Amino acid sequence: NEPSDENLVRLLKVVYGYNSFRDGQLEAIRMVLAGESTMLVLPTGAGKSLCYQLPAMVLPGITVVVSPLVALMIDQLRHLPPMIRGGLLCSSQTADEVSETLRQLQEGTIRVLFVSPERFLNAEFLSVFSTNLSTSLVVVDEAHCISEWSHNFRPSYTRLRASMLRARLNVGCILAMTATATTTTLHSVMSALAIPQTNLIQKAQLRDNLQLSVSLSGNRMKDLLMLIKSSPFKEVQSIIIYCKFQYETDQISRCLCDNNISAKSYHSGIPAKDRSRTQELFCSNKIRVVVATVAFGMGLDKQDVGAVIHYRLPESLEEYVQEIGRAGRDGRLSHCHLLFDDDTYFKLRSLMHSEGVDEFAVNKFLTEVFSNGKNSQGKVCSLVKESASRKFDMKEEVMLTLLTHLELGEVQYLCLHPQMNVTCTLNFHN
Ligand code: ADP
Ligand code: MG
Repeated sequence: NEPSDENLVRLLKVVYGYNSFRDGQLEAIRMVLAGESTMLVLPTGAGKSLCYQLPAMVLPGITVVVSPLVALMIDQLRHLPPMIRGGLLCSSQTADEVSETLRQLQEGTIRVLFVSPERFLNAEFLSVFSTNLSTSLVVVDEAHCISEWSHNFRPSYTRLRASMLRARLNVGCILAMTATATTTTLHSVMSALAIPQTNLIQKAQLRDNLQLSVSLSGNRMKDLLMLIKSSPFKEVQSIIIYCKFQYETDQISRCLCDNNISAKSYHSGIPAKDRSRTQELFCSNKIRVVVATVAFGMGLDKQDVGAVIHYRLPESLEEYVQEIGRAGRDGRLSHCHLLFDDDTYFKLRSLMHSEGVDEFAVNKFLTEVFSNGKNSQGKVCSLVKESASRKFDMKEEVMLTLLTHLELGEVQYLCLHPQMNVTCTLNFHN
């Protein structure tokens, strides 16, 4: 007697006020409600949380969510819809807080419980579960942390195995969620959690041929020119540069033309006739670069855009993902670069300090980033996130996400660029 799709949509409307499910959500929810262990790969911001929250309301037992960072747990708890009662167990709680949560669990008032993987070593916690608590679903968030790659970051995650979860919580259904995972990582996660190959739901917006990089820039115009004139961008025929302001697009395209790079600007202040002319020129490779605001790209049917450069941080992560998605539709390796400015960077840095983060660790991180070009300071990044996440607005979330990738070991390499201070290339897939 699982609910019909119609009833699930109704529930979605009543609880969240949303009219429809997003790509992948209903599929995942159906699987979980059918008791099928599932691997869900959706981009950040796609709405993975809803895929366990909604089942948590319908399933008879409680839903246990395992999360790698306390900050993530707190965030998820805060974002539960009011009608889902949540609880949290982590090492930074007092003994009283822990017993109170355990009491509420036994009373049956908690529907969704957030825990760190270390909890499965905790006798008190396990004894509560071995008595009369019924668990319907275990969710492993940021599931790629299980795989070898992230071993340094979260050794405790490697403890998460289907057999262990089954033995400890007596639960059969596991939902593993991640935004970024290489094929190898996916395989190891699915085998650890005994998720059948057929139970993989993957709707990636980011294609694996996009190579993402970021750099800190003190003089953006100069760095942009440098970037376009050096590898790999100098070999790229068609480039889109995204800016925030109309005047900025005009300025940059003029500067590019002065440097013998054929470019035109595109924004809503330009007459429609001229705009479509620019698009035509770009599509027929008569100009190499379009410098645009968000106004450009919707419905653009050009398969071989080889690079997308962001002159500033986009307004949101969704915007960023959408815009870089215009590169490499032909499947060829394409380059997406983001210039972020000192202001944003130093703001982040001062945030880290103002929150009382271990300064030694932060400095060590910065030294690593800026001097020897090797990154492994996942721990420091996690401090950044834990202390600062609540203060970030959407714009900074992009950067936070990049840092998260650093933190979660998704960074392929971090290297010094001769002019730009730092370039870190993120490989979302192999
Ligand atoms: P993820 O964990 O995949 O990064 P979240 O679960 O945090 O993403 O969801 C991102 C945002 O999308 C949240 O604000 C959430 O409320 C919203 N969202 C999720 N599902 C839907 C939907 N079906 N319609 C509209 N917004 C949604
Ligand atoms: Mg999430």
